[in-house]
Amino acid sequence: MAALDPKRYDINILENGGTVREFIDKKIDELSLADCSEPFHVADLDDVYKKHLTWSENLPRVTPFYAVKCNTTPAVIRTLSALGTGFDCASKAEIELVLSLGATPDRIIYAHTTKPEAHIKYARARGVHMMTFDNQDELTKIARCHPSAKLVLRITVDDSSSLRRLNLKFGARPAAAGGLLRRAGELGLDVVGVSFHVGCMCSDSRAYRRAIADARHVFNTAMGFQMSLLDIGGGFPGSDNFPLKFEEIAECINVALDEFFPPDCGVQIIAEPGRYFMETAFTLAVNVFAKTVTMEDAAEHNGKDAVLTMETNENTSLSCLISWQLLKRCRSRERRYRSVIWGPTCDSMDRLTDSCLLPELQVGEWLLMDATGAYTLSVSSNFNGFERATVFSVVTPETWRALILLLEQTLNTMNFYCPVLLILFCFCFLLLFNRFNCI
Ligand code: PLP
Repeated sequence: MAALDPKRYDINILENGGTVREFIDKKIDELSLADCSEPFHVADLDDVYKKHLTWSENLPRVTPFYAVKCNTTPAVIRTLSALGTGFDCASKAEIELVLSLGATPDRIIYAHTTKPEAHIKYARARGVHMMTFDNQDELTKIARCHPSAKLVLRITVDDSSSLRRLNLKFGARPAAAGGLLRRAGELGLDVVGVSFHVGCMCSDSRAYRRAIADARHVFNTAMGFQMSLLDIGGGFPGSDNFPLKFEEIAECINVALDEFFPPDCGVQIIAEPGRYFMETAFTLAVNVFAKTVTMEDAAEHNGKDAVLTMETNENTSLSCLISWQLLKRCRSRERRYRSVIWGPTCDSMDRLTDSCLLPELQVGEWLLMDATGAYTLSVSSNFNGFERATVFSVVTPETWRALILLLEQTLNTMNFYCPVLLILFCFCFLLLFNRFNCI
């Protein structure tokens, strides 16, 4: 079926048992033959699929709404869409993107508490109703631009155990929830639930428990609203290298949900994981195009204090890389040196690492960096005219077949419902037409 052609989705199938590493090596050889040394990412869709299975197994009550800001690569969004996840979008462009890639409006939450009016109007025009808020002015804006929106009140929670804290900027204090709900009622708006985010890369699973308890408290003072949605945000680790394991967090969340939102309470639970799905799915290949030996005593190049400074051609932000590791393209037992790796721009912040042990690399050699999928592409820029890295997506035939089955099911459902809806529409039209003629 043409619609399921991998080329159409820009996806490469790893035929004959090929591995991601072999694909990367082949790509490097192809690029070298074409005298090209541009950086590139490889997105491993099997990794995304495995993450999905792990999620479903460990958090069966929680539907993930993938945080699109983390990585907007179309192939991964299509994959997640086929797997049935929803999407957390933060802007008009993100909503537009996921809709163009097969997501339906009912599977989108516009999860930014402060939104430009034009973006709210766009969401309304495209049928996206679920959105978050945390202040009175936002409520006034929403009443003007999208009065039928399904609102989710974001509350502040304790994020002190997270590497990137978010609650200084986002969320209403739980004590202010009553006032906000009252105002929403006065404006005739509908508040359907509560959301929170414990901060990115959370290292204490109890933060989720405390936040779920806080959300329960807001549910208990719902001011007459029929609340039916709890959104537990993101903050989940993307790899096993992180001190707190996903499974540990999941266990803590499940216990807290059963206590504060038992299965029969009629509340739908969603989450907004970003890093969890993307971190380990991407590998970055960069070319070393400059090298300086900056040791104090250059004559002792072989001494253990040698420091190599290498410039690679990807301007990626180190701040978003948490658990990456560097892999030289060819395995080697050579002596290792303390090395500094820079991006290519004139920005002195464009530094990938200031201390890693590497064998001496030569200009023209390639380095691979593991686990570069979370936020690196989203925040990379074309500053100084250096292009962003291209992405090649790969998948094994087995996973591709599983995805096709899921896509076919979706298409079949649509093929069934579209004619039924058309017939219903014609029927209603004829009824109204007859009635009108009778009058
Ligand atoms: N949801 C919101 C509102 C966010 O701001 C973020 C990250 O900034 C996420 C979800 C994703 O967080 P994470 O990548 O930690 O899962």
